[in-house]
Amino acid sequence: MDEIYNDCTKCYKLCNAIYFQHKFIDWTSGNNDIDKLIQATQLLSHKNVKVALELIPYHRLDDIKYIDENKFGKVYKANWIDGCIFRWSIYKRDWIRHQNMVVKLESLNNLKNVKFGFINKIRKDHEFYGITQDPETGNYLIVLKDICEKCNNVCNVIHFQNNFENWTSGNNDIDKLIQDTQLSSHNETTHVLEWIPYDRFYSIEYIKENKLGKVYRANWIDGCIWYWEEITQNWKRNDHMFVILESLNTPKIFTLELINKV
Ligand SMILES: [Zn+2]
Ligand SMILES: [Zn+2]
Ligand SMILES: [Zn+2]
Repeated sequence: MDEIYNDCTKCYKLCNAIYFQHKFIDWTSGNNDIDKLIQATQLLSHKNVKVALELIPYHRLDDIKYIDENKFGKVYKANWIDGCIFRWSIYKRDWIRHQNMVVKLESLNNLKNVKFGFINKIRKDHEFYGITQDPETGNYLIVLKDICEKCNNVCNVIHFQNNFENWTSGNNDIDKLIQDTQLSSHNETTHVLEWIPYDRFYSIEYIKENKLGKVYRANWIDGCIWYWEEITQNWKRNDHMFVILESLNTPKIFTLELINKV
């Protein structure tokens, strides 16, 4: 169907508010107050798409994990398959999005009267994307940018945390120990430990033996973490660096004490 887009009476051209308005017929939360509230934010988005909230279909969220509980109810992390809006595509006649974003879901147990004041309150310390509803419980959840509550932004801890699922040493104690260093890495990465798969090393050469076991020299393909790079959404590293590998014949005594000694 070919839709006619009329210029915005405020911007005198096509703008985000117009594109949102054309999609009003495509969604409803089933709750008139919520619909009206979301629409109101969208109609304010003329030049700034970030002020618009969306109704986010619950089935577009996957990997939903319980994190903890705050005064309003349960808090979860999830992967938002579509991700937040980047800009409108005139060619596709649809929004271009940052796909697969980790987001935080906070329950709204007593969402009786949602008003603009409520949105502004949330916006004070959160980037706020929209509202979703768990079809099983009927509960509404607000969808927020996943930020560190301590730093009030997306710090190293968030990036490490979002990757916890993707690695394991096979030893719970070691995993926990490495994770602990990562969870305190808010604004620096020098004291962070990582689990490094053995196949990320090459040119491994035996050097000598010390009291803990054999010592090797190797090249680490990826190299140590330098900083988080927004464009690639990955760690910038000092790649192909020389490292020393020391054996841990008795990994059971692998505690923080040992790390501090190293
Ligand atoms: Zn406009
Ligand atoms: Zn919060
Ligand atoms: Zn932090």
